[in-house]
Amino acid sequence: MYEFVVTPAITQLRRPGVSISEVSPESLAEELELAAGDRIVRVNGRIVRDYLDFRFQTAGETELELTVKKTNGETWELEIEREESEDFGLMFEQIVPRQCANECLFCFCKGNPVDARPSLFVRDEDIRLSFLYGNYTTLSSITKDEMNRIIEQRLSPQYVSIHATDLKTRAYLLGVDEKRADISENLKRLLENDIEIHAQVVLCPTINDGKQLEKTLRDLAAHYPKVVSTAVVPVALTRYNTDERLTRVTPEFCRRTISEVENLQKEFRTNLGATFAFLGDEIYIKGGVSIPSKKHYGNYPQIEDGVGMIRSFLNSFESLFRKVQDSKFRIQDSGFRIQDSLNGTILTGEMFAPILSEQIAKLNALIGSKLHVLAVPNTYFGGDVAVAGLLTGKDFLAVKDKIKGDFVIIPKHTIKSDEPIFLDGMSFDDLKAQYDVPIYPLDVQDLIKKVLAGEF
Ligand code: SF4
Repeated sequence: MYEFVVTPAITQLRRPGVSISEVSPESLAEELELAAGDRIVRVNGRIVRDYLDFRFQTAGETELELTVKKTNGETWELEIEREESEDFGLMFEQIVPRQCANECLFCFCKGNPVDARPSLFVRDEDIRLSFLYGNYTTLSSITKDEMNRIIEQRLSPQYVSIHATDLKTRAYLLGVDEKRADISENLKRLLENDIEIHAQVVLCPTINDGKQLEKTLRDLAAHYPKVVSTAVVPVALTRYNTDERLTRVTPEFCRRTISEVENLQKEFRTNLGATFAFLGDEIYIKGGVSIPSKKHYGNYPQIEDGVGMIRSFLNSFESLFRKVQDSKFRIQDSGFRIQDSLNGTILTGEMFAPILSEQIAKLNALIGSKLHVLAVPNTYFGGDVAVAGLLTGKDFLAVKDKIKGDFVIIPKHTIKSDEPIFLDGMSFDDLKAQYDVPIYPLDVQDLIKKVLAGEF
């Protein structure tokens, strides 16, 4: 059923050495005759498992001994002296995530079409990616080595999917036994060692909402500020999620959750000085409730999880409007001009489209542009999926006949970061070839910059 077998193995953590992917010209590494494909296996006698280890073991060291396995099979022992802040000039292979050992009720893998590209079935659960990119882990199969590593290498913060502090509920949601679901000792140890935690709850109606959610948020808030924040994001079910134990999120459910959590947020702000528990943007949009203020989000601790993104986007537009209204950006000045020839279509998800439309209408009125916003239905995943980031090549192609103007803007994050393809496997070149006008993949910040510079 899944392309990747679920295994708690930590093979990637135990592989000896880290492979060099690139050596910068005229760098220390080049001087040492290191080359792409070589593997650094030890630093000062200590095993290197990945580039995090390499960075940790070399940080601040001016005298180093490296053991390197060359591509021709030779083993080199290098003794190096370097200046305190001298960089090696090395790029390394990406960390290959280790996989989780859970069977979550709502796992995104269960919502994929069967023919989705293999990388959509990767179920990562990796403390390194949690530290580096904010990927959530459940800590339910974390090993002693991994725990020690977080503490020794200060891999803080860690992003942890808690879902529920009630053990039975957590075990039920993760699809594991209570022993495995119980992470209380590990959490305690991380917090005692000053590792910061950002928590997440995937909210599933009738399972971990209402009183369960209140208990979870209160239990976590008791550890503030070491538990820095908690994101509460609604379960998103595609048309392929057919598990009858799951209930879809409705507008009424969203309104009820907002009102329940608002009371707790007020309490947290009074007692902790921070909102602490943040509801996902979709909950406000689906519930038809205004997005909270900038103050509510503080320093946006959960923006990587999409929480506060809409507020941050609205702020960007407000600041754009202020700039435009400021006389120095008016037609007679060099920085900005009326854009009456700016005529194109912005494609986005159905959830975000009404909000973006409103902002673009204001922009059109201010600068004379003719930008149109078109909501694109997600036919690939279907179900409740209406966010811009999960739109696919075929979805964009399906609205081709509705395009107005001289160009099209699509959300940048719909294209894979390391390869120009969409989630459904269609290449960006393929899409471009089927459109009669140029397509620009942009995020909101890029869009604003280009509008200001009149670059279309
Ligand atoms: S949701 Fe995450 S933790 Fe749960 S099974 Fe899927 S990949 Fe694993």
